[in-house]
Amino acid sequence: MEFRFTPEQEALRTEVRSFIKAELPKVRDGESFTKKLAAKGWLTMSWPTEYGGQGTQHMRQLVYNEEMAYHRAPGQTMGADRVGPTIILFGSGEQKAEFLPRIVRDEVTWCQGFSEPGSGSDLASLQTRAVRDGDSWVINGQKIWTSNAQRADYIILLARTDPDAPKHRGITYFLVEMKAPGITIRPLMQMTGQAGFNEVFFDDVRVPANAVVGEVNRGWYVSTATLDFERSGIGRVIGGLRTYEEVVDYAKKTPARETRDAALYDVPTVRHALADIGMSFAVGRLLSYRVAWMQSQGLVPNYEASMAKTLGTELHQRMARVAYTTLGLRGQVLEGQWAPMHGQVPQTVLSSVSLTIAAGTSEINRNIIATRGLGLPRG
Ligand SMILES: Cc1cc2nc3c(=O)[nH]c(=O)nc-3n(C[C@H](O)[C@H](O)[C@H](O)COP(=O)(O)OP(=O)(O)OC[C@H]3O[C@@H](n4cnc5c(N)ncnc54)[C@H](O)[C@@H]3O)c2cc1C
Repeated sequence: MEFRFTPEQEALRTEVRSFIKAELPKVRDGESFTKKLAAKGWLTMSWPTEYGGQGTQHMRQLVYNEEMAYHRAPGQTMGADRVGPTIILFGSGEQKAEFLPRIVRDEVTWCQGFSEPGSGSDLASLQTRAVRDGDSWVINGQKIWTSNAQRADYIILLARTDPDAPKHRGITYFLVEMKAPGITIRPLMQMTGQAGFNEVFFDDVRVPANAVVGEVNRGWYVSTATLDFERSGIGRVIGGLRTYEEVVDYAKKTPARETRDAALYDVPTVRHALADIGMSFAVGRLLSYRVAWMQSQGLVPNYEASMAKTLGTELHQRMARVAYTTLGLRGQVLEGQWAPMHGQVPQTVLSSVSLTIAAGTSEINRNIIATRGLGLPRG
């Protein structure tokens, strides 16, 4: 088995690293950074050239994603990694012409209106209704946990269009403009102190018939493609690697006798825990490589993506807890001179909690691994 990247892929890695080093410190917000990525064609490098991509092979995309995630750089947009690929697969010619060039140029932002208060893991039970009225659809209902809704231009929305059909067969996938009359957005405050996601209410929102992606009542199958794209990134594994390396570095450089708080790393269990985390990163990286390799072969990763997602997100949480213990009491300080690693560790502890819920909980992903991967019967 050949584990090396080609010289050409390694050259891309060097180019991406230099770009991040030069550009990331300059930007004050993610938007202008992603615009620069769009100008280089990197956001959509794996898209076919006919849709404005570079037709890049998946392993090049993997190298790019790995570098972006490791350096905590915003290297992807929802449009480029999820919405565009879904439109390429299922969208009409008109939708492709309208949206794909704008996504390539990073001129349109998206949010994902799938989850509802009573429908998260059991997404197909969703209750938001869309009723046909002449040339339009009229939408009523509520979405929740909608990340970035307050900044998005469009929402990819699942709504029930046939309440009498079996639950997976009466759903339709829409592209809806967020400034359409009847949409109300209410931010939800998280324990990190940020309001990254929202409740979104639809009150007689009228959308044109050409807002439907794919066939009416077949939206479930469109949404599973979107979710497969969402779960397939290497970022979930590599995202925590740099923090881990910094914690190991801190433990090496901080003598136990210097500070009682930092002395815990000398306890064998902490040393072992750091060693364990290192092993898991090695495994997680290979699981992510497998997902990218399958994509490069034209295969659709399914339980394999669930394995990488589950291991990567749970590893992130374990790493954050071990980092906490390693840094001792000072590890809880968020800012100021007493905050080791600029407060990165307590931030990671807080932000990593949601990782095993978003994009399918660990339990749901284990169900997928058990049934589709191991062939165990559904319980
Ligand atoms: C940071 C973050 C961002 C998000 N962004 C978005 C977004 O932009 N758009 C969007 O639509 N949604 C978003 N979500 C919502 C996310 O998809 C849901 O939270 C997730 O699917 C779980 O649904 P739920 O919260 O309703 O929990 P539930 O489905 O109610 O689950 C509750 C618990 O029961 C367990 N459980 C449920 N069913 C089973 C089962 N069959 N077997 C075993 N255990 C089970 C779950 O694992 C979980 O522990 C986001 C969530 C987070 C945390």
